[in-house]
Amino acid sequence: MLSTMQDVPLTVTRILHHGMTIHGKSQVTTWTGEPEPHRRTFAEIGTRATQLANALRDELGVDGDQRVATLMWNNAEHVEAYLAIPSMGAVLHTLNLRLPPEQLAWIVNHADDKAVIVNGSLLPLLVPLLPHLPSIEHVVVAGPGDRSALAGITPRVLEYEELIAGRPTTFDWPELDERQAAAMCYTSGTTGDPKGVVYSHRSIYLHSMQVNMTESMGLTDKDTTLVVVPQFHVNAWGLPHATFMSGVNMLMPDRFLQPAPLADMIERERPTHAAAVPTIWQGLLAEVTANPRDLTSMANVTIGGAACPPSLMEAYDKLGVRLCHAWGMTETSPLGTMAHPPAGLSDEEQWPYRVTQGRFPAGVEARLVGPGGEHLPWDGESAGELEVRGPWIAAAYYGGSDGEHLRPEDKFSEDGWLKTGDVGVISTDGFLTLTDRAKDVIKSGGEWISSVELENALMAHPDVAEAAVVAVPDEKWGERPLATVVLKEGVTGTDYEALKAFLAESGIAKWQLPERWSVIPAVPKTSVGKFDKKVIRKQYAEGELDVTQL
Ligand code: AMP
Repeated sequence: MLSTMQDVPLTVTRILHHGMTIHGKSQVTTWTGEPEPHRRTFAEIGTRATQLANALRDELGVDGDQRVATLMWNNAEHVEAYLAIPSMGAVLHTLNLRLPPEQLAWIVNHADDKAVIVNGSLLPLLVPLLPHLPSIEHVVVAGPGDRSALAGITPRVLEYEELIAGRPTTFDWPELDERQAAAMCYTSGTTGDPKGVVYSHRSIYLHSMQVNMTESMGLTDKDTTLVVVPQFHVNAWGLPHATFMSGVNMLMPDRFLQPAPLADMIERERPTHAAAVPTIWQGLLAEVTANPRDLTSMANVTIGGAACPPSLMEAYDKLGVRLCHAWGMTETSPLGTMAHPPAGLSDEEQWPYRVTQGRFPAGVEARLVGPGGEHLPWDGESAGELEVRGPWIAAAYYGGSDGEHLRPEDKFSEDGWLKTGDVGVISTDGFLTLTDRAKDVIKSGGEWISSVELENALMAHPDVAEAAVVAVPDEKWGERPLATVVLKEGVTGTDYEALKAFLAESGIAKWQLPERWSVIPAVPKTSVGKFDKKVIRKQYAEGELDVTQL
């Protein structure tokens, strides 16, 4: 028997309408570096998004599922693009402005982007690429920045504000199938070509609802979220759509992502929530340690994208800021888990839960798979590769405009689950603890050593600012850990024996203790601010590191 319920498509268009009417007074505040930030209400954002849709259709000829790219910081105009482009049936393609130019060009060409909306301050990145981007017919420039580089370029150039000014404030929004493409995002791609994940209207709608649930970020119109995670990094973890759905105010840092302006904006605007990768929180901690600011408005902060060292969580606890650990991927929209401890526990009892990656919501099914393909129990001990499935999890990668979507065997199981490439354990009560990326695990004499466990233990040492541990070849054991450490400012001289003893004291088994050590000036980072261990492995292989062997 079929149900008797209405079959109403779950679309971004619905989120746009709901946010601009029911939550019309909520605001997007964009940092400008001027004495006053820029403020725009959801009602204004919605109206301008409608005008943008009219402009894209009438001026740029976007009338179907063409890809419209954005090369932008987090700001109000970028939110307008987030709402307008999918709602009109086109596909929003956010470009990662920190990628090497060749990779950026590859991605634009693969997605066959028709137009790009670019922030003026990013023109020096875009303009030299344009001769290699034949599909781009229009460049729409928004916000401050020198325009002189645009003289004589081939695509047509339009100013964002002029383009939308005076356009109709209504639009004949198409009836969309909820399974249609709404947005796309390429993985940061540590190996091989980047892979395009294409989100549907339905996946974005359901993911937005999950983000807003209390068991996830739990945001309402009483909140202001500081969206540090870039809008090109998995749709800013879904926040712009989720917040528009629930009327949550957004504080957007634009290009002011350095620790000092971030601390200033938190003190002044008093956001109640924020979302960013651990590197950002490390930088902010160093800043407020040197120049104290009041961060206490942030009762609830989401930290993810890479493992959060427990020492970082402890340091923020002392500042009155509670970090909540989350795990996800570009392929999972990204919300996979969040580490809210179960009810009824004391602070001390909560701690072992807070340092895990967290619990799965109902929309994310999980299983652990052992090396022989066997499914492992959730006993907190059996370690295997995490596989997931659910309505906001990718089933394939974009195959290009002429091709079929791709389902590589190493990324998708035969029965359609996503192979995450993350290795970990799940407790009997469903909390995930990741021990490593499959490719970062150190395989020493047939046993596995978790690089993340070593890093977390090292980063708890008072002299250590950051630590990255990688596998290096070893004649006797196959692989052994190499510990690279960044010392805190003002610390001179390193006693590796003392660091090793510190690891042993913190509970690391003797056979797992690294014998190779190196002090490095900074841990190399990927385009989204994660430790880039392949660079360290390469530096080691090419003899570029000054390594001490104990
Ligand atoms: P990306 O698609 O670039 O966001 O990268 C996703 C990957 O980041 C995951 O597969 C994990 O390896 C890693 N990651 C994300 N969140 C966490 C976390 N909380 N702890 C450890 N690794 C994480």
